[in-house]
Amino acid sequence: MKSSNIIDLIKRRFPNEPEYHQAVQEVVESIEDVYNEHPEFEKANLLERLVIPDKIHSFRVTWMDDNGNVQTNMGYRVQHNNAIGPYKGGVRFHASVNLSILKFLAFEQTFKNALTTLPMGGAKGGADFSPRGKSDAEIMRFCQAFVEGVWKVIGPDTDVPAGDIGVGGREVGYMFGKYKKLAGEFTGTFTGKGREFGGSLIRPEATGYGNVYFLQQMLATKNITLAGKRCLVSGSGNVAQYTCEKLIELGAIPVTLSDSDGYIYDPDGITAEKLQFVMELKNLYRGRIREYAEEFGCKYVPGERPWSEKADIALPSATQNEISGDDARRLMQNGIIAVSEGANMPSTPEAIEIFQQHKILYAPGKAANAGGVSVSGLEMTQNSERYSWTAEQVDEKLKWIMSNIHENCVKYGTESDGYVNYVKGANIAGFMKVAKAMMSQGI
Ligand code: GLU
Repeated sequence: MKSSNIIDLIKRRFPNEPEYHQAVQEVVESIEDVYNEHPEFEKANLLERLVIPDKIHSFRVTWMDDNGNVQTNMGYRVQHNNAIGPYKGGVRFHASVNLSILKFLAFEQTFKNALTTLPMGGAKGGADFSPRGKSDAEIMRFCQAFVEGVWKVIGPDTDVPAGDIGVGGREVGYMFGKYKKLAGEFTGTFTGKGREFGGSLIRPEATGYGNVYFLQQMLATKNITLAGKRCLVSGSGNVAQYTCEKLIELGAIPVTLSDSDGYIYDPDGITAEKLQFVMELKNLYRGRIREYAEEFGCKYVPGERPWSEKADIALPSATQNEISGDDARRLMQNGIIAVSEGANMPSTPEAIEIFQQHKILYAPGKAANAGGVSVSGLEMTQNSERYSWTAEQVDEKLKWIMSNIHENCVKYGTESDGYVNYVKGANIAGFMKVAKAMMSQGI
């Protein structure tokens, strides 16, 4: 197999899907050598079968706004691969959502979920619906209408959705409630549920905490600790919030947060008290990050991302392709030592190349942000057992999973000069697991 052939094939078959092409290209290029050591893979046409999603569901979502006007959006569920377990992955509500984005996310999810050690296949869903400025009643009606379009193809042993951008505990609750009515059963079909109805403790924290645990492991390979390190965090949603919380707990100093309007830079550091303000601002009032600058009198830069600020570590936790090549060059000039991705595919291919050329510690999202879906997997386990673990038990398992992922990245990604290519390591480890499962199950 030549990686360029597969990439040409998917570009021909699925034109105008740049994010999907980008994600496939990164994986295919990094597994090429390992794949070619297994002629049986090629005979089974494994790679072609692995890069094309199993099924794509698309549907119109019709709902009524508060003025009584009927609105439509497009809803999707991409079921990418279920070789190692039921389809599993979040739901994204954002104006930018389209099939290219959901296909890239479902593809990435397949490898990420394989890395977690838990039996979960890969999927992603969503709608081109913008929750911004919507009332709670509108959000509820939209969630219900979305579930009407998808409920027949999901289920506890079929496909288990969760949250992503624009979908948090509130939205999962509304979707779960509607699903329960339509299916006529109380099952663990969604994860990220409220803790009163089967949600796992630590699930809200898991992506951010997991990313910081992964970062700690990377730093430890160089005998560096987090204490005193200045960190650029982008985003201000669930992932960014709990990333900051864990950084603060471990003595690091987060200095930025952002949203789609701009970023704040707090040279004194975002403290636990200031973070509490952010959590209330975002989660209760659905406010904008600009208000942090107004409250605490620090710098706010509209229309920009935080990558030109000086710091030791970057934790991009907003969205895909938020670090360009120029951003990466600026980060390098400013002496960054590590980048650990809380978002999915936040660095462009050019940015990744720059980080790796400079041999800094660079962890791709599919490894570093796998903590979220890992605790989703643990939520599925608890739901199947009809039991709940304590926060300490879940956190302990999360830590173990993140260090296992780190170990696998080192095992498969260490290059001849000792540099750990975490992209290669994560891709090969995830690929080998899915590939073996697919081979065992025939065609
Ligand atoms: N959306 C998250 C991710 O990108 C979590 C998915 C889940 O919990 O199923 O991994």
